[in-house]
Amino acid sequence: MEDFETYISKLREADSPLVREMEEFAAEQRIPIMDRSGIETFIGLLRIQRPKLILEIGSAIGYSAIRMVSALKVASVVTIERDNERYAKAVEYINRSGFGDRITIIEGDALLLPDESLPNLQYDALFIDAAKGQYKRFFEKYSEHVAEGGIIYCDNMFMHGAVMIPDEEVPKRNRTMIRNLKEFTSWVMKHPNYETSLLPVGDGILVAVKKRD
Ligand code: SAH
Ligand code: MG
Repeated sequence: MEDFETYISKLREADSPLVREMEEFAAEQRIPIMDRSGIETFIGLLRIQRPKLILEIGSAIGYSAIRMVSALKVASVVTIERDNERYAKAVEYINRSGFGDRITIIEGDALLLPDESLPNLQYDALFIDAAKGQYKRFFEKYSEHVAEGGIIYCDNMFMHGAVMIPDEEVPKRNRTMIRNLKEFTSWVMKHPNYETSLLPVGDGILVAVKKRD
């Protein structure tokens, strides 16, 4: 039996050659872009939500940013990347995609970025997909820029299963990161200002809807 990834990739043969090229580049260079099951679900959710302005933390090579704007007729994405090589690659892909007018990429560390560097102060959606041990800090810094009724999405909530194994079995170098991610998860699931679901698709996608006052 074929797996979901194979099945869906056949159905998506009409995808743009650029998207395919980016998927291949990411696989070769081991750049952790969203997998097919994750991105399919994420894009489906965005089509339901219909955000006009999206803020993304962690662009990598621009794959998810390009997938988001190509799925949404009127959306714009502001995306932040701190790694200069990935940033340069993302700029190249964004230009080639023809979506340069709807994607603004900022080079820098999202945790150090001054608010004035953001082109907009209110976003309909925030997508957190950067350093996994820092999710609480990204959330605390950027959630005030999410409009009421807006949605915060977070990727890699399962860290390929590492959150589900006992602490002492997690490789030492990842232990703090995994512990932080788990602490963030239980913190955000209990957060009184959000209605939160953890979706078991891709590598785990968290969906936190900001309550209206
Ligand atoms: N969203 C992308 C994948 C992002 S991978 C996609 O699915 O296509 C995570 C990226 O976050 C990495 O490229 C890493 O360099 C970046 N990153 C990690 N911490 C960051 C920070 N504090 N500020 C900005 N970018 C960060
Ligand atoms: Mg991710």
